[in-house]
Amino acid sequence: MKTVDTINFAGKKALIRVDFNVPMDKQFNITDDARIRATIPTLKKILNDGGSCILMSHLGRPLKKLKEDGTIDYEKFTLKNTVKCISELLGADVKFAGDCIGTDAAQMASALQPGQILLLENLRFYKQEEKGDEAFASQLSKYGDVYVNDAFGTAHRAHASTAVIANFFPNAKCFGYVMAKEIANAEKLMKNAEHPFTAITGGAKVSDKLLILENLINKVDNLIIGGGMAYTFLKAQGYEIGSSLCEDDRLDLCLELIKKADAKGVKLMLPFDSIVADKFAADANAKVCDNKQIEQGWMGLDIGPKAIEDYCETIKQSKTILWNGPMGVFEMDKFEAGTKQVAIAVVEATKNGAFSLIGGGDSAAAVAKFGFENEVSYVSTGGGALLEYFEGKELPGIKAING
Ligand code: AMP
Repeated sequence: MKTVDTINFAGKKALIRVDFNVPMDKQFNITDDARIRATIPTLKKILNDGGSCILMSHLGRPLKKLKEDGTIDYEKFTLKNTVKCISELLGADVKFAGDCIGTDAAQMASALQPGQILLLENLRFYKQEEKGDEAFASQLSKYGDVYVNDAFGTAHRAHASTAVIANFFPNAKCFGYVMAKEIANAEKLMKNAEHPFTAITGGAKVSDKLLILENLINKVDNLIIGGGMAYTFLKAQGYEIGSSLCEDDRLDLCLELIKKADAKGVKLMLPFDSIVADKFAADANAKVCDNKQIEQGWMGLDIGPKAIEDYCETIKQSKTILWNGPMGVFEMDKFEAGTKQVAIAVVEATKNGAFSLIGGGDSAAAVAKFGFENEVSYVSTGGGALLEYFEGKELPGIKAING
């Protein structure tokens, strides 16, 4: 893999696409600096070599979230609000260009000395960024000698700064450490998984996950299905699912998947029972119910005790585990048990030598809620990018460096 380790940055200006799309409170204080923190090793490597860093990122969606008067909310979406944090984490001054293109940015980039850092203003103030505009990418490319992509969160987008720009650096482009680690871990699952390989999928909607399920069927030994999406599979098989979540237009596809799994010898596991509730609320009445007999007016909001036992036994025997999507509405304590017990089983399997990767926002949030983030092999920061990787798609951000 072409990482920053393959390049000596002495005297070079590295133009680095980072993901500084960090959450902020109403006063624009950063509430979680994990994404900035994660890129520090890449920046330090370049600076220690004697190079300089020109950082470019997006923050939110400024052109989609306009102010009430229809203008861009510069105050909210400026990357200037991240300068202090980057500077503190790096232990160095960070210069800021108030526009990502134009003469000021070009002059600041040109004057940059080894060891110095320049942050460009939010790329998404320009529609050309998300459009993958070549002229815009070309303007950005002029600032640096080497292009580094360390923004895995946007690797599935063919934007100007994430993919198109790489064309201007045919012999001087590489991945930063964040990207390299994400790719290595995802590849470990898709290309070198030790068996038994179990994928645990859950979450609300089956329609979001069908492509992943289709692709995973070619890789895994066990496919565990929980969460709201399980009920569409159960209904497809003729079960009464009461008022549980269901996508009626996907019933046929669910049946097809069940058949495909069967034909390939993959054990597709659906929950035997559920915790059903009389409303979607933390104070709902709840009871255990066999999934063959969910009454009208009741909805499955978590997997039940038999399903937990069944799933955990399989998980504990696995050597490779991919987990995407919670088993129930884990945000409400009454319906968290399925997700929590599955998390405990994943931790136990990991202790016994399994490789476990947790990916996608909600499963990562669940693992964090229970305090297990350091007891699994890897928690991906990728979200959408990771999911597209597991759908079997070639990510533009990866292709642009490898190609
Ligand atoms: P996703 O973004 O598709 O991974 O879905 C995650 C969301 O699915 C979480 O917010 C869960 O609360 C929700 N969820 C999980 N199980 C259920 C269920 N049985 N019924 C409704 N929502 C669920």
